[in-house]
Amino acid sequence: MFSKILIANRGEIAVRIIRACKEMGITTVAVYSVADNEALHVSLADESVCIGGAPVGESYLNMQAILSAALLTGCEAIHPGYGLLSENAKFAGLCAENGLVFIGPSAEVIEKMGNKDAAKRLMRSLGVPVVPGSEGIVATLEEAQENAKRIGYPLLIKASAGGGGRGIRKVSGPEELEQAFLGASLEAQKAFGDGSVYMEKFFSPVRHVEMQLMCDAYGNVVCLGERECSIQRKNQKLLEESPSPAVDDACRDEMTRIATLAAKGVNYVSLGTIEFLLTTEGDFYFMEMNTRLQVEHPVTEMVTGIDLVKWQIRIAAGIPLDFSQQDIQISGHAIECRINAEDPANHFMPSCGKISLLHIPGGPWVRFDTALYQGYTIPPFYDSMIGKLIVHARTREEAIRKMQAALCELVIGGIEQNRELQIEILSDPQFRRGEYATDYLTHQSFGGLLNDGIE
Ligand code: ADP
Ligand code: ADP
Ligand code: MG
Repeated sequence: MFSKILIANRGEIAVRIIRACKEMGITTVAVYSVADNEALHVSLADESVCIGGAPVGESYLNMQAILSAALLTGCEAIHPGYGLLSENAKFAGLCAENGLVFIGPSAEVIEKMGNKDAAKRLMRSLGVPVVPGSEGIVATLEEAQENAKRIGYPLLIKASAGGGGRGIRKVSGPEELEQAFLGASLEAQKAFGDGSVYMEKFFSPVRHVEMQLMCDAYGNVVCLGERECSIQRKNQKLLEESPSPAVDDACRDEMTRIATLAAKGVNYVSLGTIEFLLTTEGDFYFMEMNTRLQVEHPVTEMVTGIDLVKWQIRIAAGIPLDFSQQDIQISGHAIECRINAEDPANHFMPSCGKISLLHIPGGPWVRFDTALYQGYTIPPFYDSMIGKLIVHARTREEAIRKMQAALCELVIGGIEQNRELQIEILSDPQFRRGEYATDYLTHQSFGGLLNDGIE
């Protein structure tokens, strides 16, 4: 096992990883930007290194600074968390070149799956059903028009290098195609440094259901059940649950079979997630693979009793899984609510400032993953997700009630946040029946709590 790990991230996920390391007896090194002097992950780690300026390009995406920090402090491995460098093949390769273990899959596998259209082609060749759309990249307007004829409207234009809900454009009819195609390519070039786009049939209503994978270096592949992630705003997840109210045992078995096929087909090693679109008819299609730890991993931990972060570290250290697919029992129901510093009534505008008051709910099977503390000032430079409230109960109904009680108890003073919106969702009869799809929030106003600007 490693004796010292550098955590190349910030916020709640850095704290989560530091906790796992402490329990495993691993010394931790935090890195931070000049804006994160007072951040919790810095004080919780055994050592810390300032790696640069506030913008992520100068610090959390500064590969040379992070690698130097790891080498100078004598680390053997780097955990990238999610976002930032977690799906950066170049960084994973540089770690290897410098004798550092990247806690995640190999640079080759990240590269293969990171390009979303190429990943779809690869999956299709393995026999995985994929979201219908263009055969790879669409390079010209003529190609876009030909594809549109075949796919039909509405359709989506997606950036091959996209992520985090960005780089996706809906096209309702032929009159919108030219502008959308050119705009999407330009935007993708600006945002991701790669203007390649591809096209997909737009499903609606549809659910986002994903399968958690855990694969060791010896060919053992285990699926840890699905997560329902259809409650979204701007194509980004807001509330997740496991199991999915839309997945029965037969569907879960089939998803497990397909996800296992996909993982084995690319010799996947580490944690990973296969994202599917699940239609109302019960068919599901591969959308993309996330080759990293996922924000919503705690709901899977709750229903399986398995610590995903610890296993991700063990796998990177070459330790084989000590359980197999038959050992996995999905027990009860878990829900996660993302707490974002943003204003739902004002187009989810990010909010920052000083946390004047903080009360974190407690009680049995209530977990709050956060890097907040009272008196902390949220800097304006980073992601708006400031915490995740997770609950576990025997049934979905009990879990909803537990989450409502916990949300009512949660107090975060001094900033705008989305607690009220989460409470509204949990009280909504349609949500309680489990009858919702990715367009759920576009049909809600919750008595004016949501403005009309939601896409
Ligand atoms: P998950 O399914 O784990 O929520 P996301 O795609 O939402 O995956 O990404 C996880 C986190 O990574 C997000 O909360 C966001 O902070 C960050 N992230 C991912 N991709 C990007 C990106 N292209 N630009 C900025 N942040 C991103
Ligand atoms: P990202 O890489 O940003 O996570 P995804 O390709 O995973 O992008 O898509 C993000 C979200 O956009 C999905 O969870 C879903 O809500 C929506 N979406 C993506 N593709 C489709 C599609 N073909 N039809 C309908 N909705 C889609
Ligand atoms: Mg996705």
